[in-house]
Amino acid sequence: MTTQSTASSSLCIYCEEPGPFSKEHVISAGLGGDDKRFMLVDMVCKRCNTDVFGKLELAALRSSPLAISRAFLQPHGRDRGKHTTAPGIQARRKLMVNASGYPDEVDFGPHAKPIVLPQLKITGEKSFSSTAAGPDELRSFVTTLSTLFQDHQITCIRKRGPEHELRYEAITMLRSDNTFIHAESSFQAKPPRAGLWLERYDETDAGDVTPAATILQKLNGGIVLKTSSTTVEDALDFFASAVEQFSYESQVTRDTEGPIVSVGMTATIGVMERVIAKIGINLLAHYLGRDYVTDPGFRHIKTSILTGNPLVTGGLVENNRIKQLLNAAPANHHVFYLNRTRQPEGQVAITMIAHLYGVAQWVRLALNVPEPHLPFPLFFLVDYVNHKVKQQSEAEYAEALPEMWDK
Ligand SMILES: [Zn+2]
Repeated sequence: MTTQSTASSSLCIYCEEPGPFSKEHVISAGLGGDDKRFMLVDMVCKRCNTDVFGKLELAALRSSPLAISRAFLQPHGRDRGKHTTAPGIQARRKLMVNASGYPDEVDFGPHAKPIVLPQLKITGEKSFSSTAAGPDELRSFVTTLSTLFQDHQITCIRKRGPEHELRYEAITMLRSDNTFIHAESSFQAKPPRAGLWLERYDETDAGDVTPAATILQKLNGGIVLKTSSTTVEDALDFFASAVEQFSYESQVTRDTEGPIVSVGMTATIGVMERVIAKIGINLLAHYLGRDYVTDPGFRHIKTSILTGNPLVTGGLVENNRIKQLLNAAPANHHVFYLNRTRQPEGQVAITMIAHLYGVAQWVRLALNVPEPHLPFPLFFLVDYVNHKVKQQSEAEYAEALPEMWDK
């Protein structure tokens, strides 16, 4: 016969099934929590860890609006020594929805601010539209194109698949009588120093209105010609004559205030909240032990974390004092703030606030659970550049921010 406590100590704290167990990062490695001192050992089963949390974190960190901020603010993802790579955005395309029906190409500048790239699009047999962040950007882009097309020879560069050792195709286009002709091409290991990059519109983007071709300038200055239903030669002919006839008066530069950005990602509602709630339960288990989080009061949130149903209760933090407190955290740090409010009969409700890349979101972890037996509330600072986690009491956290508390 086994006692209650030995039985529960061999069960996963989430699904309450027996192991096998695997080590679980208290704070997701993808958020900079790859710190050996903050691991749960023999608490989370392999199935929850890999099948559920792994996918959940991937979805939250790579395919949600958070991914955009993360890619721009965090220099590298999980620390894998030499193999550390920059976190990426898993997006099929970066386009901005606009009123014309044709999506605009955008990229993300510092702090994930969307920037409309200067671009010309073929919208009909003889019509085209132009877009840029402003009139100066448009003027400068058209001048660049006009210089490019004045040459009677253009080098186009096409990147080939990873199966090719010579990754780049350099295509020489010659222009005579206003017509571009494919003159020759060669394969090279490195791209030519200058040229026009060729890309194809993704054919899986069904349902979108795709222009026949778009010519655009990337943030790094490179010029890209993207084609869908037209040939490269025809697109070049079209744009060369469009640039010659370009009139700034007839071209409308769109107002880009408050743009709606579609980065072609599938956003799943509630994924981020589930990840934050899981980190909250992990932190409680790490700090207070497994017995605390196996209280039936946490069953509700665990179901939400594991299945997404019901949705995790939470939202953006609106309390200005708390926002100020979290915004005062050192640069390159996430903050997780565990707090409790007293409930009837000596019980407490527990909430967690996650301050990630400057945005504070709260989630409710439980409504009626026992008062924690160790000091509360708690702050966890995650240095996402160096992958170090620091636990602080409210007083320790506040000590670092004296100016805030003098008021
Ligand atoms: Zn489990």
